[in-house]
Amino acid sequence: MSIDVHCHHFVMAESNGGFCHPKFASGLRVRWYLNQTGILNWQDAFLRRPPSREKIDELYAQKLIEQARGSTLEHIVLLAFDAVYDERGYRDLNKTRMYTPNIAIMKLRERAIASGCSKFLFGASVNPLRRDWEDELDEALESGAVLLKWLPNVMGFDPNARTQTMGRFYEKLRESGTPILMHVGFEYAVPNQNIAYSNLDRLEGPLRAGVTVIAAHCCGGRPVIDSKKMFDETKLMLVNYPNLYIDVSAMASFHRKSRFLAALADPLFSERMVFGTDYPIPVHKLAFPRAWGRDRPRNYFDQDQFIKRMYGLSASALWRGYLPLTRRLPAPVIDRAQSYI
Ligand SMILES: [Zn+2]
Repeated sequence: MSIDVHCHHFVMAESNGGFCHPKFASGLRVRWYLNQTGILNWQDAFLRRPPSREKIDELYAQKLIEQARGSTLEHIVLLAFDAVYDERGYRDLNKTRMYTPNIAIMKLRERAIASGCSKFLFGASVNPLRRDWEDELDEALESGAVLLKWLPNVMGFDPNARTQTMGRFYEKLRESGTPILMHVGFEYAVPNQNIAYSNLDRLEGPLRAGVTVIAAHCCGGRPVIDSKKMFDETKLMLVNYPNLYIDVSAMASFHRKSRFLAALADPLFSERMVFGTDYPIPVHKLAFPRAWGRDRPRNYFDQDQFIKRMYGLSASALWRGYLPLTRRLPAPVIDRAQSYI
């Protein structure tokens, strides 16, 4: 059994229910991701000649299903991405850089199933500042969401806010056994609203409320050369909170390698480690010489796995991702995962 808990869906066209701010859409980052996923060739990426948003959405969906089907992974949690909301709880499209609604995840899952690929699990995203958060969260849970994805620094809210809403939000997650997959640390992939909202200490709000948290990117640390102090602070969090897991998404990259290697060498980190890729974030093959010259898999998910395994990621990290999701997994998955969890 193997599971990737961190894979992004991306819907750009408003006719498909998604949104991508024009500035962000034409920026270097998005063009690079589109190139890396095989949607846009180098020339068109360089000359800013993307196809229509509808066409990008269609190609993204096709490629994602193709990659998932071709991968050795058995399950992939596909993530929605909620917007930024103003103080009255309405969607703020001036501040939102991208938005992929929960319904888009359900649609892609159905499409994949119809084409014979039933690997995707539903990762919902609900910003607690939205005025209809409760309806949106209930609907996602009824529709089989296995976890909730938050990027507080990009979505613009403080997970430690001691508001009544936050209290009720956490209570619902705890009662339904729904973990939060939360971004922690620095962020280059999407522009920030407030980077402080992804500081390590922001994990304490949900953790103290008894919610299980999967902290993304081994909790971040410092880019390129990690800080010992930040590493030790993360370790202390792992000691204090048995309901905290860490994922290795985007760790096959130059600027995250230092934290990745330190985490792999530490037994406490390794015991809580779950596998994640962060698709479509590119894998930096050149930064991992041990994988050079070898017969690397071409499939994105398998290549990411291959490099991380070569640097010491244990086989157990590939199935450990089922553990925090146990109460949310559909019956057939739970039956199969039984011997592991
Ligand atoms: Zn991510």
